Amino acid sequence: MKNSKISSIWLPTRDEGLRRLETFLPYAGREYARLRNFDDGPGRHAHVSTLSPWIRHRLLPESEVVSAVLKRHRFQAAEKFIQEVFWRTYWKGWLELRPGVWQRYQSDLEQIMDRLERDDDFQDRLSRAISGGTGISCFDEWANELTGTGYLHNHSRMWFASIWIFWLGLPWQLGADFFLRHLLDGDPASNTLSWRWVAGLQTRGKAYLARPDNISRFTRGRFRPNDVALVKAPPISGPPDPTPRQIDARTDWNRTRRTALLLTEDDLSPGFLGLPVNGFEGFATLNSLHGQSPLGVSNMVAAFVNGAFSDTWGRIRSVAGRPIGHDLQTSSVDNLVDWARRTQIEQLVTPYSPVGPAQGALDILERKLAPLGIDLVRVLRPSDAMAWPRATHGFFRFRQQIPSLIKQHNKDIGR
Ligand SMILES: Cc1cc2nc3c(=O)[nH]c(=O)nc-3n(C[C@H](O)[C@H](O)[C@H](O)COP(=O)(O)OP(=O)(O)OC[C@H]3O[C@@H](n4cnc5c(N)ncnc54)[C@H](O)[C@@H]3O)c2cc1C
Repeated sequence: MKNSKISSIWLPTRDEGLRRLETFLPYAGREYARLRNFDDGPGRHAHVSTLSPWIRHRLLPESEVVSAVLKRHRFQAAEKFIQEVFWRTYWKGWLELRPGVWQRYQSDLEQIMDRLERDDDFQDRLSRAISGGTGISCFDEWANELTGTGYLHNHSRMWFASIWIFWLGLPWQLGADFFLRHLLDGDPASNTLSWRWVAGLQTRGKAYLARPDNISRFTRGRFRPNDVALVKAPPISGPPDPTPRQIDARTDWNRTRRTALLLTEDDLSPGFLGLPVNGFEGFATLNSLHGQSPLGVSNMVAAFVNGAFSDTWGRIRSVAGRPIGHDLQTSSVDNLVDWARRTQIEQLVTPYSPVGPAQGALDILERKLAPLGIDLVRVLRPSDAMAWPRATHGFFRFRQQIPSLIKQHNKDIGR
């Protein structure tokens, strides 16, 4: 194991993300392509970057990660790693074009949770699955790794989801919710659409089958599952996908009005907005993580996100070089509306939040600010503005555009 310097402590700071990126860079080329599918177990994820919690909250934006990799490797050598980073971009774009898929997931989940309350056997099966008590050794270990560390290797996420759906017969929505509560990188787009992909809803008619020999090979024999006799994964059926909508967002904002900066957990690198922070009358953060699951996220996830917000406050203060006039940290839209009224600002500028809880909170905020004459300006990064509308079909078509999308990355200036 070469990349053994990767720490298993998840510090929610941009500096830690940068340190991990630096440590991983030598392995992001052909070695990643060759070894990335091997999962050597908790604390031994040496063949992958483990950067997803930092990228998810954009303590490290995707553009910065890709650009660092390309300074170290030629495109051809790092193509696999770059493609994986672009999976995140693709999923975000795909869901942004079809927000109804997220809304449907949420309403399905609500109905399933109602059913759960009335069905003891269902409850029992679920509680064994999430507490590592099914008796399927690999599955139980992954459940424990997820709840114990907040991370799971991609291949194990795929095997876990496949066993959850096709062997344990549990609804994929409950599995997606379990992940969103415990993953430090829990992300509405990547998570919902990956679960749909395993279930056979995303690539219609094609589900993912976790094969025991594959598990054994890529865990280097740590598991030889003879307790899972999965031989087929009949794809789940569902309603047709909504037609892609237009993305309606700004890529710039009016710098002459009294403005406050607002950040959510979706993008904690606001430099692309064109700081200096001195130009802002105030600075606020809105934490919408409670909307990620009806059951709330784990303490570990909450601590990571709170820490990431604090780290960002520190960075903003040091860029400003002085305390900012008015500031607020909240998870309540109403508090934010009161604060905006008191500070007499004319507009709140925020990086665009993709489909998910923060976007839902911003929709409510916008409606509440309008009668006060305060605008909410959601600014889309130039790289997202270019990439997301292209997620109309499958990833195969999208990935052919990666070289031209990378050229757009240099417009995401500033951190
Ligand atoms: C059922 C299931 C649920 C998932 N849920 C989430 C989730 O909630 N949040 C999340 O960030 N990822 C999710 N993924 C995608 C993927 O598993 C993780 O992004 C990846 O394992 C993160 O580990 P890493 O940083 O070590 O990845 P690396 O292999 O080092 O990849 C580098 C980066 O590329 C991106 N990436 C890699 N693989 C994928 C992928 N398949 N989809 C999207 N982006 C990818 C991530 O930003 C990652 O940090 C899920 C996958 C599955 C199969």
